[in-house]
Amino acid sequence: MNRTLSTVPTELAGKVVTPDDRRYRLLRSTYTTIGRPAAVVLPESADDVAAALRLARDTGLRVAVRSGGHGLSGRGTNHGGLVIDLTALHRVDVLDRGSRLVRVEAGARWAHVAQALARHGLAISSGDHGNVGVGGIATGGGIGWLVRQYGLTIDRIRAVEVVLPDGTAVRADADVEPDLLWVMRGAGAGAGIAVAFEIEAMELRDVGYAQLVMAVDPTGETLRRWADTMAHAPRELSTAVMLSTQGATTAAVITAVVASDSPSVIRRTVEPLLGIGDVMAQQAHVVPYTELVPMLHLHANSGQMRSSTTNGLFTDMTPDAARALVAASAAPAPVLVQLRSLGGATHDPSPSAMAFPHRHQNTLVVASAFPPDDHPTLAAAWTPIAPLTDGAYVNFESDPDEVTFARAYPGPTGTRVAELWERYDPDGVLRPGPRA
Ligand SMILES: Cc1cc2nc3c(=O)[nH]c(=O)nc-3n(C[C@H](O)[C@H](O)[C@H](O)COP(=O)(O)OP(=O)(O)OC[C@H]3O[C@@H](n4cnc5c(N)ncnc54)[C@H](O)[C@@H]3O)c2cc1C
Repeated sequence: MNRTLSTVPTELAGKVVTPDDRRYRLLRSTYTTIGRPAAVVLPESADDVAAALRLARDTGLRVAVRSGGHGLSGRGTNHGGLVIDLTALHRVDVLDRGSRLVRVEAGARWAHVAQALARHGLAISSGDHGNVGVGGIATGGGIGWLVRQYGLTIDRIRAVEVVLPDGTAVRADADVEPDLLWVMRGAGAGAGIAVAFEIEAMELRDVGYAQLVMAVDPTGETLRRWADTMAHAPRELSTAVMLSTQGATTAAVITAVVASDSPSVIRRTVEPLLGIGDVMAQQAHVVPYTELVPMLHLHANSGQMRSSTTNGLFTDMTPDAARALVAASAAPAPVLVQLRSLGGATHDPSPSAMAFPHRHQNTLVVASAFPPDDHPTLAAAWTPIAPLTDGAYVNFESDPDEVTFARAYPGPTGTRVAELWERYDPDGVLRPGPRA
């Protein structure tokens, strides 16, 4: 059928926003990218998602899928196509308090999830920002504030409700459609549209939150001592390091989160970090987990933060790696360099358990150009670092291509991801392509 957008299916009445609709201005873009889609569909159920996919097929419009709209590549919008925006699907329910099983819809933001679960003394480690959507994180990875205690967000997913590109609704778990569950945990974007996830949350109310500022020497010894400290740290400790260079001085701004509300445990856990370099400033508090992904983060997306970002995983912080990271931060044309501690629970699953095989690496390094459109600066800074990396995380890549695919899904993982994308989406309706 050759349908046009002026004859939308009855079940989507009022849920298709075209450029002449006053809602369009707030829906056209993502955080990183200004979009000009022909329409944005706002499904309220899995049936609506299937109807939106039918509408795309009937009108011949290209599909973009959006949950929180924080994807760095901006593929949550497009120019001239149909955006399926899952924001209206944002329920968070505790299914079984005893086993801590919760059901989270894909369009919820992590600030909402943290808030809703805090009432039950539960939490899910997701990321560092409350406005990021459930759908993008829970189909790609999820390296959050409690990553070494909890693992990746996808590690705790027990079932996914998916609408496949042909409109079929499937609930995939370990027994029913295990291949679909496998690919949705790490490479979900190319297989189906996740509507909701069943996730095992953790018992958590307050956490230890410390910030330390350290001088970093040009050879990067401070980073090596940080990596060594993290290798021996208890799982309760997860840290993020931001390198910041002013003139000739590079500093590491370290955020440490301890999955405990006991001041003595927090002190004992954070103390070894004080020994890695000259401490310029430090503070520590006990805060509710909700303060780490607060409702204050919520905002509309209008393409306000263009992104040139890439990343790599490191197994060892070798002298070469540490020196290269400091050099990238301190270069005449510097990039923002951020390190996230892995290890702990991220090493528990087998590399073949899901479509995220990186189970021995200890650090994620994210590099971003600022101003954000400065691709050449990012490329120049990353060139000496790239050969030192051991894989990549698909969600911190602003311009994903075949090289990204090979780094994020190396070897047999990539073969299986490609096969499953082909099986579930033979026409390539959802196949990740270049940035919008
Ligand atoms: C400020 C900021 C902070 C971040 N911090 C972290 C962090 O701490 N840890 C971390 O791991 N990541 C972090 N990220 C990266 C984040 O994981 C990705 O950007 C993620 O894709 C965002 O999810 P979203 O739903 O908001 O994105 P969207 O833009 O809505 O989606 C991004 C892509 O994911 C896919 N997708 C989205 N929803 C679905 C769905 N329901 N079903 C199938 N595919 C879907 C689509 O391909 C879509 O194009 C951060 C990003 C930003 C901008």
